[in-house]
Amino acid sequence: MSHVFPRHTKARLPLVARGEGCYLIDADGKRYFDGSGGAAVSCLGHGDPEVTAAIKDQLDKVAFAHTGFFTSEPAEALADLLIAHAPGALDRVYFVSGGSEAVEAAIKLARQHFLEIGQPERRRVIARRQSYHGNTLGALAAGGNEWRRAPFAPLMIETTHISPCYEYRLRREDESAEEYGRRAADELEAEIERLGPESVMAFIAEPVVGATAGAVPAVEGYFKRIREICDRHGVLLILDEVMCGMGRTGALFACEKDGVAPDILCIAKGLGAGYQPIGAMLCTRAIYDSIADGSGFFQHGHTYVGHPTACAAGLAVVSAILNRGLVARVNALGAALKDALHERFGQHPNVGDIRGRGLFLGLELVADRASKEPLDPARAVHKAIKAAAFEAGLICYPMGGTIDGRRGDHILLAPPFVMEERHVDEIVDKLGRALDAAL
Ligand code: PLP
Repeated sequence: MSHVFPRHTKARLPLVARGEGCYLIDADGKRYFDGSGGAAVSCLGHGDPEVTAAIKDQLDKVAFAHTGFFTSEPAEALADLLIAHAPGALDRVYFVSGGSEAVEAAIKLARQHFLEIGQPERRRVIARRQSYHGNTLGALAAGGNEWRRAPFAPLMIETTHISPCYEYRLRREDESAEEYGRRAADELEAEIERLGPESVMAFIAEPVVGATAGAVPAVEGYFKRIREICDRHGVLLILDEVMCGMGRTGALFACEKDGVAPDILCIAKGLGAGYQPIGAMLCTRAIYDSIADGSGFFQHGHTYVGHPTACAAGLAVVSAILNRGLVARVNALGAALKDALHERFGQHPNVGDIRGRGLFLGLELVADRASKEPLDPARAVHKAIKAAAFEAGLICYPMGGTIDGRRGDHILLAPPFVMEERHVDEIVDKLGRALDAAL
């Protein structure tokens, strides 16, 4: 009997034995194509010799030194590299161990910033209904997934939610994409005014929504208007690129394609690519200075912030993404995969939408393409697809997200950037078999 407390207590999981490139191999020798990189983590695939060598090298020097006493070479170098490529005025990097921690730190930094500059009444966070920002209490409060939030609602900080920018379902037929983007963004202004601008500290959003929606980017212009609204009311813009950042969408940072830069940016999964647990929160010079010139101490911190070995892994991963030209590769392979998905599932009666950017793609499943009626949630089709794909040797990330307050099924694909053109057929073929079995 196992003594591990698993995620799903009723599931019987195979033992993973090895990782080789785009494949995970279980103890019985069965090979699984890692079509979602776990959950958009394994951007370099498995067993990358450069990254493992960098980790071993750091372990030989020093595995860990507490940031209360030391900084470290890998932390300094990784921060420099990230800031050299980061959008806008982002200037400082705070390293953490994962995505929820990055969001938690971002929310606390926003609050402390306003305390430091003498605006203590700013304490409210606005987020979007279709979002996931992590599972710690602050991050969970920001997220919009009702199912995840419900049991813990009494423990949460005050957050209000506006509509997502979700063209497939929420754009009216009489609207252009531009008009829709403006209407969706203006909900933020209305919410800030409703709450009272002096009480709002931050708006948080994923540039491309991952776990709750299956790779939903905003329409062009939406985030530019969001940026303007935040600026007009002195509200900080926090962008959560934990899933969609680090090259995944075909730009090192997803917000580059939206033409905006945040005040605070959260990254994680692709930063360590699964080789080490690491995340980061980047902030502007102005926010950093509010603390540096004020109390001089960010009232936050976990034991493993700036972990040298994790930073060494992150440095090797980001260097690999940049030096091997992987962002361009993501664009090329992403286009090929999207085309193949359209070709195979474009007319499928239960595939309502195929979307996403780069190698961050999603399929939304419906009962009826014309009415966009979601599948019956009681069928939990996403679970059946996950199981059938796994059986077929494909790891993908099907979910039942929230659509206008109802459950809806979608499938997220986030394969390694190092996949080959020939893997496109393998993904589409195995996914096709899974849909046939589950629907
Ligand atoms: N933010 C986003 C957008 C995510 O997708 C996730 C995880 O899926 C998180 C935050 C939380 O990250 P972690 O699971 O590393 O804590």
